[in-house]
Amino acid sequence: MEHNPKYQVLLYYKYVHLPDSEQFAQDHLAYCKELGVKGRILVASEGINGTLSGTVEQTEKYMRDLRANPLFSDIVFKIDEVDGHAFKKIFVRHRKELVTLRYEEEELDPNVTSGTRLNPKQFHEYLQRDDVVVLDGRNGYEYDIGHFRGAIRPDVDSFREFPEWIRENMGEFKDKPVLTYCTGGIRCEKLSGFLLKEGFKEVYQLDGGIVTYGKDEEVKGRLFDGKCYVFDERISVPINHTDEDVIVGRCHHCGKPADRYINCADDTCHLQHICCEECEAEHNGYCSEKCATHDQMAG
Ligand SMILES: [Zn+2]
Ligand SMILES: [Zn+2]
Repeated sequence: MEHNPKYQVLLYYKYVHLPDSEQFAQDHLAYCKELGVKGRILVASEGINGTLSGTVEQTEKYMRDLRANPLFSDIVFKIDEVDGHAFKKIFVRHRKELVTLRYEEEELDPNVTSGTRLNPKQFHEYLQRDDVVVLDGRNGYEYDIGHFRGAIRPDVDSFREFPEWIRENMGEFKDKPVLTYCTGGIRCEKLSGFLLKEGFKEVYQLDGGIVTYGKDEEVKGRLFDGKCYVFDERISVPINHTDEDVIVGRCHHCGKPADRYINCADDTCHLQHICCEECEAEHNGYCSEKCATHDQMAG
């Protein structure tokens, strides 16, 4: 029998001052191509943020090599086993910032201002307190297929919209403990810092994000409902490994419970929407009648 090579998906970030980050990004792309890993890596003078896939051998080498750089010696990798590549290509892009908040004051440095870190066990305990406010630090569409029970859904489509949304919607919670969380932790390092600067008195962040929470053997993902949206071909991954697992998404067409996202089949639309299998067949993958007829006319 042929041996199936096992693959892994890595998710990681590190906020650290990276001198000559543009050159680093160029060299890193050449290195990744040579190694054969695929994925999306952002490089900025404030650090690195990546998610990539490869064989166990490739990904283990990637982790060893990155940790060999003193700047990244303590970087944390979240590792998932998968059946094959979760990306089609490799991108290494240089950016001004790893994650951007539309914030007019001085730039937020998570190494200076950031919320108190809670490990999964602590976060699980805090979630059950009745005086806390839980704020999802991701986009609305990520919240829609899975989130912590009782969390507030931010009505934003990109991270940069958070400051404005928080000023308009969260003012009444400034004296309450606020718990923030995101996929892998990188966004909440800045979001929790922003909340502190805005005058929120007690701000916490889930260290390592939802992905780490789902791997904790004691907590087992409890109190996370639905699935966690991820930015690779898997689209979502299970977090809650207990029998409390539920589906929280709703089909865009029929409203029945569903937790799969598809992109609208119309090339000019491509709207990502939650869609059950029956409705995908019935509507041929279009998000709306308008898109279905638009394509017919064009065709
Ligand atoms: Zn449906
Ligand atoms: Zn559409």
